[in-house]
Formats: sequence, C-alpha cells, structure tokens
Amino acid sequence: MGNITFDTSVRYLTGVGEKRAAELSRIGIVTVRDLLYHFPRAYQHRGNVKLLSEAVDGETCAFILTVSSAARNAMVKGRMTLTKLHAFDESGKCNITFFNQGYLSKEFTVGRTFRFWGKLQKKKGNIYEMTSPSFEVYEEGFALAEFFPVYSLTGGLTQKYMGKIISNALNLLDKNTIEDILPEDMRRQYHLPMLDWALRAIHNPMNYEAMERARKRFIYEELYIFALAVSLSKKRSKKLSAPRISTPDLEEFYSLFGFEPTGAQRRVVSEIASDMAGGEAMSRLVQGDVGSGKTLCAAGAVYIACKGGYQSAFMVPTEILATQHYNDLKEVLYKAGINCALLTGSTPKKRKDAIKSALLAGEIDCVIGTHALLTEDVGFMRPGLFITDEQHRFGVMQRKALGDKGKDCHMLIMSATPIPRTLALMMYGDLSLSCVDEMPPGRQKISTFLVDESYRARLWGFIEKQVKEGRQVYIVCPAIEAAEGEEGLVGMDWRPDDQKPVIQLKNATEYAEELQKAFPDIRVATMNGRMKPAEKDEIMAGFAANEIGVLVSTTVIEVGVNVPNATLMVVENAERFGLSQLHQLRGRVGRGSYKSWCILVSDAKGETALARLETMTKTNDGFVIAKKDLELRGPGDFLPNKQGSARQHGGFSFTVASVCDNMEELEKAFAFATEVLCADPRLDKAENQGAARRVEEYFFFNRNAMN
Ligand code: ADP
Ligand code: MG
Repeated sequence: MGNITFDTSVRYLTGVGEKRAAELSRIGIVTVRDLLYHFPRAYQHRGNVKLLSEAVDGETCAFILTVSSAARNAMVKGRMTLTKLHAFDESGKCNITFFNQGYLSKEFTVGRTFRFWGKLQKKKGNIYEMTSPSFEVYEEGFALAEFFPVYSLTGGLTQKYMGKIISNALNLLDKNTIEDILPEDMRRQYHLPMLDWALRAIHNPMNYEAMERARKRFIYEELYIFALAVSLSKKRSKKLSAPRISTPDLEEFYSLFGFEPTGAQRRVVSEIASDMAGGEAMSRLVQGDVGSGKTLCAAGAVYIACKGGYQSAFMVPTEILATQHYNDLKEVLYKAGINCALLTGSTPKKRKDAIKSALLAGEIDCVIGTHALLTEDVGFMRPGLFITDEQHRFGVMQRKALGDKGKDCHMLIMSATPIPRTLALMMYGDLSLSCVDEMPPGRQKISTFLVDESYRARLWGFIEKQVKEGRQVYIVCPAIEAAEGEEGLVGMDWRPDDQKPVIQLKNATEYAEELQKAFPDIRVATMNGRMKPAEKDEIMAGFAANEIGVLVSTTVIEVGVNVPNATLMVVENAERFGLSQLHQLRGRVGRGSYKSWCILVSDAKGETALARLETMTKTNDGFVIAKKDLELRGPGDFLPNKQGSARQHGGFSFTVASVCDNMEELEKAFAFATEVLCADPRLDKAENQGAARRVEEYFFFNRNAMN
C-alpha cells in the first residue's frame, strides 16, 4: 500500500507488461498520473436496477438475478465454448449465454446472486435472454457502485482491464506524494474536493453527486492550467519591441480605394496605427466576418510600415489567395509608391532569387506569399510588419516558425472565423483584438436553402439560369482525399458519426463532366487540391475574368477568393462540412451587387446533421454560426495545440471542461491565475511548483525563457 507515486511508470502495475504498456502509451498513458487522469468518457448507470419484467425489449440496464441452474459449458463447431446458465428475479427467468469464457462456469453456482448489466431480449412466452452481460457478485449489505466507468480504449485493451489497473493504481498510490495543483483558496472558494478524493470519485463514483463534484474539480483544474499557460505566454510576448513607426496621413491611404471605407475599417486601421506607433511590438488580431473588408485593414498596416520606411510580409494559406491578394493590392498600393512582390512555392527559382535579393536590398516594400515565406530563406533589409491571413488554417508548427521570423516585427493576424470574444482572448491570449463589425454598404443577404437529391433537376435549371444571365456559379464537393499541401488544416475531416459510411460522395471531376454534358454551351471547369498551383491560378484567373461559368471544385476555394460576379454557391454533400467552413464557402458569393444564393445539397437523414445544416438557412451571421459550430464540435479547431497530442488537426482539447458550458468557470479560473501570477510571476513558489510543471507539460514551453 502506498508505494507508488504519480511519476511511477505504469509498467510497475500488475498486469502491465511490455505489450500493454505500448498500447497504453498510444493513448498517451505512460505514468501512473497519465493513467489516473484518463477519465471515463461515460458511465453505465448500474444503480438503475430493473426487474426483468420492467425492462423493454432491447433495453440495456442492470438486473439483480440469482442463479437457478448452474452454468454449463458446451463446445460448438469444435472451436467455440458456450457457457449457459439460468437466473431469475421475482418477475421472471432469464437465459444467459457467454462465449469462449468457459472459466466463468465456476462463478455461477446455484444460489449465488449477481448484478448483471446488459441488453435484455424478450422472447415469446415471457422468456428473457442476455448475451455476454457484465456482472458483479451481489451480497446483502455490501454496496455496489451506482456508476460504472466506461473508458476510451485502444488496441486490445478492455473496459475491465482499464478498470482493474486504475483501481490497482489508486490503491497503491501514496497519498502523501500527490501534489494538488489547485491553490487552496481556490478550492475553498469554489467548494472543490481534494485531488485524491476526486480521482477516486471520478473513476468509481458512489453516486451522482460524487461524480459531479469530482468533475467540477477537474474542470477547474484543467481551466486553471490553461489560464496560467495563456497568461504566462502573454507576459512573455509583452516584452518584445519593434520599430516605432509614426502614423502617416491615413486619408491619403483611404483615397487609394475606389470606395469609401466603412467606419469599422477606419477604426481598425487607427487601432493598428496606434499600436505601430507605440514602440512595443503590435500583436493584433483583426476579426471580421467574411466580406467585411479585412484586406483593406491589412493594406493599411502595410501602408503605415512602408511610409515609415519599413518592409512588410503578408502570408496567406493558399497560392490562390496569395495571388488574389497580390493582384488586388499591387495596383492600389503602387499608386502610393509601394512596391509589392508575390512569392509562393511555385514561383520559378530565378524569380524567387530576384525577389529575395530585392527584399534584402530594400527594393521591395511588401512581399505577399504562402508559407514559402517561412521555408524559403527570406530576409529583409528593414523588416517591420508580418501579416498572416486566415491564420487558424496554418498548422501549429508554421505558427511557431512565424513567431520566430516576426521576432522584432509588428504582427497582424486576420481571421474570418468570428469566434466568441472570451474564447478569442484565451486562444490568442497575447493579442489585442480588433473587430471589423460592419459590412460595406449594399451587401446582399445571401438566401440559403437546404435541399436533397430530389431537387437535382431544378437545381441544375437554376445553375443554367444564373449563367445565362451572365452570373457565375461555384459548386463545391468534399475532398475525398486530403489534398496535397492541405494536411494540418482544420475542419476537413470532420463529419458526424451518423454520416460516415452511407452517403455517396460527389466527385468533383466526374460531376463537372456530367454538368458539361448537360450544358454544352456553358464553360464548366474543375479544380482540386492536387492540381499544380499554376493550373489553379489559371483556372481562378479564368473564373475571375468570367471566361468560366461554373467552377466545380473541392474546398480549395474556401477562403478569401473574391469574384463579385459569382452569385450562386452550391455545396454538395454539405453534411461533410463544418458550419464555419460552410459559412466561409457561402461568403464567396454575395460579394457584388447581385442577389446571391447558397444551396446546400444533402441526403443526410440524421437529425443532428439536418439541424446543423438548418442553422445555415436561418442565419447569415458568422458569429452565431461559429458559436453553434463550437457547441457541436467543441473548441478543438480553435484552441492552441497540445504538442504530442493524438489529435490530428492539432486542436487543443479539454477532457472534462467544455468551452461552451464552462465559460463562467473559465473566467473564474483566469481570475485566479492572474491573482496567482501576480504574487508569483514565474510560479517559483513551492505551492505553485506542481502547477508550473503541468503548465510546462501542457504547452512545452519553458517558463525560464520568459526573460
Ligand atoms: P474579407 O474581410 O472577407 O477579407 P475583403 O477584404 O476580401 O473581405 O473584401 C471583400 C470585398 O469587399 C472586396 O471586393 C473589397 O474590395 C470590398 N470592399 C471592402 N471594403 C469595402 C468598402 N468599404 N466599401 C465597398 N466595398 C468594399
Ligand atoms: Mg480576406
């Protein structure tokens, strides 16, 4: 008793050999602490005992039954052992069968009573049957747990095995070595139980109340660590300095455009200007719904930098977008004497070299490009500003590399994902926030409809009509395989469970061929992620010039492209897309003065899938949609990465806390973290050591690097 600690390897536990240890490590369990923090993902409510006669056919619940005829083994087909027994309660009799567990026959002797948990089948003549139920010995006066944990598993691990090694670890754990990372004040103020108690209660809760109390504690714990980590990284980046750039005449900048900037755009540009004039490095996130005109704000920053004698880099996630920004900005900015260049992965080597040396010589004021800006060894003569567009689409590693590059620069991040403010502050804890919360005038509301296959003929008629009227149409099909260069992006892979196998996916290429056959005099083009960037650019240019009437593509057009003449967005297999992604796609139309439509095609039958899609038909407000998306998908796509996590898309996931349900706790945790850091800025004090270690583990950063 009491001879292992949190840091003991799970190998030390009975039943954990090399093979099991390897399996456990696949779900991130290496130490006893990892194991004990592997919380149940659900519980079976075994305290809810029913009589056989009370249960409905097919119901899974608990029954207390006494063995009436001892278990007997029989071999079938020479390979399988069947173990059969009869057991009863006051309402009836049940036949119970186990497969290949012959050793169980010894357990089930006449007169013994068990609590069984399983799916009850009712046969004719009031005969009940259960196959391979779980069971525990039931003895008068000896309480059985009300709730039974259900764990996420991997490989050959079973629930029973997990339960066993966890109980084993809890029994052997030396209580004195457990460091409780929650400050005592916090525990007291929010009535949170001690760690040792909470660990026992979350794995084997005696009742619902205990489970809830334990859960609450771990929610606070998780949020507290998160809050500490965010606050610490915020502190760290505060110290960066960047050139002090005084604000030029902004009216001159505004006059470069063929339109009057909105009040929101002016406000955001002024916020940027005052940051850049301040001497501390700007770290600003500009948030605004699709089409709100964020590019102008970015251009404003470039203008300010350039007028002050500094160079800018503008990084975007795709070649198409880079090209588009370049085309949009080069002329506008050229009028102000600002020289732009485009640098992407597909820029020919010679041209790349020329751009790179021009940048070093200070002949180029602003370079627009993809992550080639990071991977290519790009240097500047007078770097002053680093902008990234749609940053949430960059992988975490890129994000970090970006941080290094932009070390002594002002940083501006543009995001079209209007995430709730509290969440934005958390995930970009070190950023100030600007919102372009006003749409340019004259924007059309995009009418959105959800239809199924039966609508196909009418849909095609509608497509034809739009093109005949001179407008253009996007059709988006899901990417069947992750497109090259798109790995690490969020939202591509997600779909609800109930949608996985059944639905026939539309393939962009075949779809385009079909359409072309149906409309021989309309030019239909197709684009996918596997195409060379130059090919994509050519198609995009053709579409922008209205040489292409219908563009069938995968989500490569998702972000940022701007063709005001396009009025119809059709999304096939819409159930495959996340809501925020659909909102982005929808934002590709309605960018000009023409009435625009978005038609979501889905044969999904699941209630949740339909409810999600219906959200799209009900609102055009990106904020509402992001919130809904968050509720349905969790924050994984929005939050920073926990390194080494198994999550493919680099999402940070809470295990017990939910950002939607626990906003209040989150705010409290932040308040507490601030208080603690105020008294102990580097978490050096003994009572904060445990928390400090956890923070480091979470984010893999070394708090000593703070100064
Ligand atoms: P996003 O915020 O989605 O990046 P963009 O910057 O691409 O939006 O702007 C969308 C479209 O709106 C572009 O065609 C742009 O020229 C236009 N636009 C931006 N600001 C204004 C404005 N103040 N008045 C009219 N049109 C504008
Ligand atoms: Mg944009």
